[in-house]
Amino acid sequence: DIILAIETSCDETSAAVVRGGKHILSNVVSSQIEIHERYGGVVPEIASRKHVESITLIIEQAVKESGLSLRDLSAIAVTQGPGLVGALLVGIVAAKSLSMALDIPLIGTHHIAGHIYANELEHNIVYPCMALVVSGGHTELVRMESEGEFQVVGRTRDDAVGEAYDKVARALRLPYPGGPHIDKLAIEAENTIVLPRAWLETDSYDFSFSGLKSAVLAVINQHRMKSLALDEAALARGFQESVTEVLVTKALRAVRHYGAKQLLLCGGVAANRGLRKALAAKCDAEKIPLLVPSHALCTDNAAMIGAAAYLKLKRSQFTDLDMKGDPGFSLESWSVGKAD
Ligand code: ATP
Ligand code: MG
Ligand code: FE
Repeated sequence: DIILAIETSCDETSAAVVRGGKHILSNVVSSQIEIHERYGGVVPEIASRKHVESITLIIEQAVKESGLSLRDLSAIAVTQGPGLVGALLVGIVAAKSLSMALDIPLIGTHHIAGHIYANELEHNIVYPCMALVVSGGHTELVRMESEGEFQVVGRTRDDAVGEAYDKVARALRLPYPGGPHIDKLAIEAENTIVLPRAWLETDSYDFSFSGLKSAVLAVINQHRMKSLALDEAALARGFQESVTEVLVTKALRAVRHYGAKQLLLCGGVAANRGLRKALAAKCDAEKIPLLVPSHALCTDNAAMIGAAAYLKLKRSQFTDLDMKGDPGFSLESWSVGKAD
């Protein structure tokens, strides 16, 4: 039950060796952030090329650090989607080659299932549970009635949270990715510029962040036009408070409504200190166990892909070698009960 997992969906090239979907034997992550920073965002063409350059070395390093040899592996897991199609392809080609050469099964894995199952690497997930997925490309509430059964009960109708963070940061001329910078400004702020909350329909678990983003941009433009000094920290704080209040309120309502026993926080924005703090306080008050992965497992890494892939290994649900990367891969269709 030892999986070699590969993740190349965006701008991290990563390989990991995971035992039993729980124990990380190695988890090598090579980030391209410095390369994409000067463009203010991920450039797909460059991402693919960089993955090609480093994938072999990263895989070799992951195997070496695990202390095992290729013969010890039970399966090869790889992110099938969602993600950048050219970036996904690099990991998929490497995974297929290994699967063929070693004659072991291939497991095409859903990236967001990976973010959710990152929690299993450090905690024990109990069902039914609710996951709040907050990342660069996704903002979703995912209900899990039992292990490996995914039901998306709410999603963003426009920008993902991480995307909104990055856009606001860019408007404030902060480096990419902007999330951590806004987080820092918000925490150190002495004042708050209060911004609107997008609640949508009263019973909806969906999200919307583009109105908030526009409100932030309007404040910035007004100040620039009138050459007024802008309290950027107060603006970051107002933005973070708006985002956090909506996420926390909807997540807890979903937990109560669906009778979830745990709330799982995951995705790159799960590293946000304001969100973690607010969620922890609310969950504590309502006696709801909150699971959050450590920082390194919140952002993209292959160990989380190995954790999710184990759901399929356990059930001998493998993927054909003619599998293709799927930028719009559906999480629900990846559920273990849906396998054909
Ligand atoms: P997806 O998982 O949806 O395909 P992704 O893999 O690109 O997208 P992640 O790597 O999970 O996204 O997360 C990256 C995002 O997390 C970026 O938008 C980044 O700004 C944001 N982020 C990281 N740290 C923080 C933080 N402390 N506060 C807010 N946002 C953060
Ligand atoms: Mg990334
Ligand atoms: Fe991700």
